[in-house]
Amino acid sequence: MYDEIKKEMLEACLKMKEYKLISLAGGNVAVRVGEKRYLVTPSAIEYEKMTYEDIVMIDENCNVVEGNRKPSSDSSALVYIFEHKPEVNAIIHTHQPYATAVGMVQEKLPACMVTLIDACQGDVVVAPWTPSSDIGMGKLCVEYGNEARAVIMKRHGVIAYGPSLDDAIFSCVYLEEGAKTYVLARLIGDVTELPKEEIIRELGGMDRYGQ
Ligand SMILES: [Zn+2]
Repeated sequence: MYDEIKKEMLEACLKMKEYKLISLAGGNVAVRVGEKRYLVTPSAIEYEKMTYEDIVMIDENCNVVEGNRKPSSDSSALVYIFEHKPEVNAIIHTHQPYATAVGMVQEKLPACMVTLIDACQGDVVVAPWTPSSDIGMGKLCVEYGNEARAVIMKRHGVIAYGPSLDDAIFSCVYLEEGAKTYVLARLIGDVTELPKEEIIRELGGMDRYGQ
């Protein structure tokens, strides 16, 4: 079931590699497909070797409902986010270095430039350290997440999400581009924050973006 969605998830995985957001089998992609049903990428299979048939469907207790692979070791965290954020239908977890680097030294990545505002819709907060492969990652993401479409997990990586898989990809790819620009800017000087009203004006402009 859901072969088309599984193929889109595999494409998203390859995009994570293309944009250097993960290495080998790091990170994961998950999509909500129905009442307490979630598609999740398998654990520890390199994305180049993964086929869409390796993607498994799990229930709210992380039991495999369909598929032959072991689901991502972060599944309990992913399900927790889905269950507590009904507006979220897709989640991408990455280890993208620039955003993660900002999270090593700051408590947030401010929405101080166009791409960051458009993709993440606000300041991206940094959630405290917690071990991976544990539900705690999902709990902190829900607790610390604000209106933005991503949370930086301290000493770990990023969890990006949105109403659709395209939104989640948009968020993590541009978050990384924005974080890279931010880090470069910080090397040569201070970065000022944008006033809240300017962030709102920029978000208004997004209504005119697209075909
Ligand atoms: Zn991870």
